[in-house]
Amino acid sequence: MKIICIGRNYADHIEELENERPKEPVVFLKPDTTIGQRNTPFYIPDFSSDVHHEIEIIVKINRIGKHIQEQFAHKYYDQISVGIDFTARDLQTQLKAKGLPWEKAKAFDGAAVLGQWLPKKEFKDLQNLNFELTKNDASVQRGHTRLMLYTIDQLIAYVSQFFTLKIGDILFTGTPAGVGAVQENDRLEGFLEGQKLLDLKIK
Ligand code: ZN
Repeated sequence: MKIICIGRNYADHIEELENERPKEPVVFLKPDTTIGQRNTPFYIPDFSSDVHHEIEIIVKINRIGKHIQEQFAHKYYDQISVGIDFTARDLQTQLKAKGLPWEKAKAFDGAAVLGQWLPKKEFKDLQNLNFELTKNDASVQRGHTRLMLYTIDQLIAYVSQFFTLKIGDILFTGTPAGVGAVQENDRLEGFLEGQKLLDLKIK
């Protein structure tokens, strides 16, 4: 399986990193080895001293598709959750400045943490969902899917022009403002519509 990630999908986060607003979605991939084991801590890698949390809405692909039209995109996923797209920001900033790919900063082992999946049918409107990340019980990132520049269905249509989507693939849909560094012994908790779906220790 593969993880397809979207960058710069919330205007407030684009502003905090002083990035340009994209004319089309910014896409990158993470391999399956990026997924941290459930119920194990996240270990800050040696090569970074500025690993940031990025809480994101994620969906899991449930059928094979290519060139999916937006109007049919909703048929290609039936589970939703929140996940963390861990990013070695110091490394990413260096790579971005040189115009180099981001993989070392985004696709290292453990850099994708998945929350507990929920059936999407539990929610009436997926573009009307609150999600949140707390760090040591303080709210650090709060997002609302209404504020996505590209909706989940638009993203599926877009990325499927380039990549065949396969069963079990996961789409990360971008992070809202509030990204920040994690430190040893932090505790991160992720919520979707008030339900806690993710609980992670940092080591
Ligand atoms: Zn991200």
